[in-house]
Formats: sequence, C-alpha cells, structure tokens
Amino acid sequence: MNVNTTPLIDGPAPSTASARTDGYHVVVDALKRNGVETIYGVVGIPVTDVARVAQAQGLRYIGFRHESDAGHAAAAAGFLTKRPGFCLTVSAPGFLNGLVALANATTNCFPMVQISGSSERHIVDLQRGDYEEMDQLAAAKPFVKAAFRVNRVTDIGLAIARAIRTASSGRPGGVYLDIPAAVLGEVIDADAAAASLRTVVDAAPEQSPSPAAVDRAVALLAGAERPLVVLGKGAAYAQADSTIRRFLEATGLPFLPMSMAKGLLPDTHPQSVAAARSMALRDADVVLLVGARLNWLLGHGEPPQWAPGVKFIQIDIDPGELDSNAPIAAPLVGDIASVMEALNERAQFIDAPFRWREQLGERRARNAESMAKRLAADSQPMRFYGALRAIRDVLRDRRDVYVVNEGANALDLARNVIDMSVPRHRLDSGTWGVMGVGMGYAIAAAVEGGGPVVAIEGDSAFGFSAMELETICRYRLPVVVVVLNNGGVYRGDGQNPVSPDPSPTTLMPAARHDRLIEAFGGTGYHVTTPAELGTALTEALTSGGPAVIDCVIDPTDGTESGHLTHLNPTGLAGTN
Ligand code: ADP
Repeated sequence: MNVNTTPLIDGPAPSTASARTDGYHVVVDALKRNGVETIYGVVGIPVTDVARVAQAQGLRYIGFRHESDAGHAAAAAGFLTKRPGFCLTVSAPGFLNGLVALANATTNCFPMVQISGSSERHIVDLQRGDYEEMDQLAAAKPFVKAAFRVNRVTDIGLAIARAIRTASSGRPGGVYLDIPAAVLGEVIDADAAAASLRTVVDAAPEQSPSPAAVDRAVALLAGAERPLVVLGKGAAYAQADSTIRRFLEATGLPFLPMSMAKGLLPDTHPQSVAAARSMALRDADVVLLVGARLNWLLGHGEPPQWAPGVKFIQIDIDPGELDSNAPIAAPLVGDIASVMEALNERAQFIDAPFRWREQLGERRARNAESMAKRLAADSQPMRFYGALRAIRDVLRDRRDVYVVNEGANALDLARNVIDMSVPRHRLDSGTWGVMGVGMGYAIAAAVEGGGPVVAIEGDSAFGFSAMELETICRYRLPVVVVVLNNGGVYRGDGQNPVSPDPSPTTLMPAARHDRLIEAFGGTGYHVTTPAELGTALTEALTSGGPAVIDCVIDPTDGTESGHLTHLNPTGLAGTN
C-alpha cells in the first residue's frame, strides 16, 4: 500500500485494518479521547498540521500572535474549567515563549499542558546545528511540574494521558510534552494507533483528611476568640462553591477572599471582611486557610501582618505546602470539596464570637465610608478612582461579566473597588504579580465561559499582549479592554534630567490605544471623564463586540511599584 507521510487533514483518520495514520492524527485522537475541546497556540514548523487536523476533527483551535498569550489563555482555561488547558507551540523560540506561561501556570497551580514540536533528536543531541535546534525537554524541566518527550508515535496516547493526569492531580500545574517533528510525521497502522490511545479515568481523585485531623481543626476553630477564614484561588479552582458557603454561613466565620477568590461568595456578603483586611489579619488568633498559601501575598504568615502566636489551619492538596512558612497547627490535607464536607459535618461546634464579628463590621463600615469619599472625588484630569467608580457602577448590574485585571496601580486599586459576585469570574496577575497575562486570560474567559469580558488594564501592562486585539477581532470575541492610560509605567510624569530620551517609566504621552483595535475592525472609544467612560462601557457591553476604551488618566496619578513600594530596593522610587 502507498504510505503517505503527508498528514490526512481532510477528515477523520482512516480506521480500516489496512489503513495508515500519522502522528498528527494520533495527537488529535488522543486529545479527543480525553474530552479536550480547544487548543490555544501559534502554528509553524512542525506543528501546523496538528492544528489543521484538530480543526478537521471538530476541536476548536484558537490561533494567537504570540505563544506567551496562547499559553496564558491555556492556563486560564485550566483555572476556569478544572481541566488542563492545551497550548501548541513551534520549536525553540516559540517553545520558550510558551514556557513563560507554562511556568506561570505552575506557579499559580493551574493545570496546563504545552505541546511543542521540536527538531530532530539525532542532530540536536550532537549539537550539529538544526533549524531551531534546542534541547527543549531539558530547558523546560526546572520550570514545570513535569516534562516528557515522545520518541515513538505509539507512545503519544500514553504521553497525553500522563500529561493530563499529572497536570490535574495533586497540586495542579504545568506539564511540558516534547514531540519531535519526525514523530509527528511518522506513519503507522491505524489499528495500532487506535489501540495505543488511553482514556484518563478520574483525573483528580478525591482525597479526604483523617477524622483526627478534622477534629483537631474543629477544636481550634471552636476555641478561637478571633477566627478568620482566608479563601484563596485554590478554593475557587476546587469548584466547591456551595459546600464552602454552607460552612461559612453555618458558623458565621468572617472570611477574606484573595483576589482570584473574589466572587466565591459575593463581595457584598455580610461576613466578608475584605474591607477590613489589615485588621482581620493583624488581630486574628486562629486562621483557616482554604486553598491559599502563606506566601508573600500573605506576609509569609508572620508579624507585622499577623499577630505573634496566631494559629493556622491549612487545607491544601499538597502536603509539601504545609510548614513552608509559618507553622501549621492543624493540617488538613485533601481536596477542598472533601475537606469542607468533613468540616460541615462538625459545623455545629463552631460559632464565630459575636464581639469579634461586631468589631470587624465596624471597621468595615468605616473603611467603606472613606473609600466612598475617595471614589466620589471628581477630578479633572480623571484619576484612577474616578475611572474605577464609573466601571464599578456599570459592572454592578452586569454580574455575568468576567473581569481580567493587570497593572500596578490599575491592579491594586481595581481589586478593592470592583466587587465580584460570581465564582471564577476574576482573573489577574496572580502569584507572581506578573504583567502580560491580560489578553490571553481575556480570550480564555470569552472562549471557555462565553464572556462577556472586561479587561481593566494599566497602559504598560496592556502593551505586553496588545497585538492579541487582532485575535479578539478575528474570533469576534466579546471582550472590552479598558486601558487606564496615565502615560507610563506606574505613572506618566517621569523626567530624564540628563538627555532628551524619555525617562525609564515614560510611555508615549497621549497614546491612543483605541485606534489599535480600529485597525482590526473593532470599536474604539476615547474618554476623558467618568461619565464618558460609563457611557462607553455600557455601549460596548451592549453591542457585544470587541472594543477598546482608552481612558485618559492624570499622568501624575499612580505610585511607583503600586502597593509594592516596600519591595523596590531603589532609593529613587517615587522620584522618577
Ligand atoms: P492565593 O494566591 O489566592 O492565596 P495560592 O495560589 O497561593 O492562592 O494557593 C492555592 C493553593 O490551593 C495551592 O497551595 C494549591 O496546592 C491548593 N489547591 C489547589 N487546588 C486544590 C484542591 N482542589 N484542593 C485543595 N487544595 C488545592
């Protein structure tokens, strides 16, 4: 029979006994077998036909302009769906671009798989200088949960099953799958290929804590004078929304959502102490961490953010996380749904003391009042708070909206002003506090969740992934990007005292980001007041089409390093 090494892109892989198939088809068949519906990526040698075959076989392929953005979309898809998001990249530079997102996904505990084509092993391993030569497997290993290479077409099914299992189970994370071009093009008997496929059963099995561990935790919470629950993005990821809510409402425990856990319970919930955060952390005596790490975002569990002697109870799927910072008095190792079910069975023994709830309530009301004053100030030129008030007012009536948020000041301030009411509807800079995730996350929210999406972006942060506006327009996604444009990194009034070059923090003054999307057929708005912003955002959301609102912010508004000034070692911070 004629063995055709070109991929069979026009239809399903042949299945008769004498039929042949190839690596491209086997990859797609293995993904389909495991329920994968979407691949995010950038095509090129040697993976273009993976995308073509995927499309022909009914998978959705979303083609990006840069691999990092495709990777960030896959990572966000993992967070939103609790199943690994898939990213397809070309060899060497494309692989490295995608690896940034895979590392970021691993850091954030999002399940993701990056499949990359690579060049010929026999040339790469002898370093003979191939097209885009690189030992990608070795390069990926330090940054990911696991990395595998497929050297035989008959191993593709095993490799994809292993990748899905590894990315999803235990602490979720990023898996790298290296497939050399020769393996993708390898032709084999279709029956042998079909027999090599595997279906992953129960990718993230439930894991319950022991009754003794639950008793220990309940005893601590029951005896607490000032208990607090911190909900992290692991809690949002776990999709145990009603179980968590039942426990909190039965016990009356005050809770504090980390930024991507906002909306797990509505931010307006009477037990939320987000508006009394500093006091809640500083004064709590027993703290239940639900899918939240005691990393830098929580001051490592130490004074001055926390009281000396505070006792932590930690729910986490990864036992290695416990005691990585402050001592954990009561570990609860297991998946959040199972652990919360076990806690619910003992909820009647816990009752948050009335006086502590009252104290937090008073602080919350006081802080809300001063925030309301800041938001009410109408300055011209517009400042961050004026713009955020307008966005908040529109989104208050649009609870279905996914909010993507990145920047320095744009992140710090929006996080506190924009309330969320629906779980897993906020995606932001995450554990690394990274810039550049914006358009990738927005695209994933539109593709996986159906949108609508509002991305609240600092002008500097937006620049990292702005070319994906073309992707947003090409796929006609319901994404509205609001660029809080103060003309600089942190702020736009930087000075260079020694030469005509712009200062390091200066970006193009008076840049018109709205015109970028017009190049691709989307709608641009240019606004200078909160009222104009509110009207533009309402109109853009109603129209459902892609839009960019360039929102002119006073260049003197903004703090260097945002809320992280203490991490900036330079004595020049703030002087520009
Ligand atoms: P945040 O930044 O919101 O505080 P982190 O990313 O620091 O949240 O913490 C998330 C934690 O949740 C990680 O330690 C991770 O191991 C854990 N986690 C993720 N999924 C689950 C799950 N299903 N069950 C239990 N723990 C989980």
